[in-house]
Amino acid sequence: MKCSPECYECCIETEMILTTQDIYRLLNLGIPWNSFVEYRDGHYRLKNVDKHCVFLDPTSGKCLIYNFRPLGCRIYPIIYDRDKGFLIDERCPAKDTISVREYNSKIQVLAKLLRDIGEL
Ligand code: SF4
Repeated sequence: MKCSPECYECCIETEMILTTQDIYRLLNLGIPWNSFVEYRDGHYRLKNVDKHCVFLDPTSGKCLIYNFRPLGCRIYPIIYDRDKGFLIDERCPAKDTISVREYNSKIQVLAKLLRDIGEL
């Protein structure tokens, strides 16, 4: 898919779930647990500051940990809704640029993530 370099819609008021591997990867960078992890609705999630992900630099619109970002950020805009199942997030301005192959592959990864955290 073709994300616009200026877009950070997916980092606003994030509800991104963190896997154990995500958390350890970021802890290994020396980032303190309580600066980015919060426990909400039964899962560890990225923390928000000023209504955006703590890792978003609002001045540049860039992710400060892009190469180490959580798995969920990598598979966005595929999301899971308990009632509707797998969806493409309507908020994503580039949602129409995702290929069928990428869509299918991201669903596989998301399904595994959800199984790992006991949501599927
Ligand atoms: S970790 Fe990076 S890509 Fe993921 S929501 Fe935060 S700023 Fe955005």
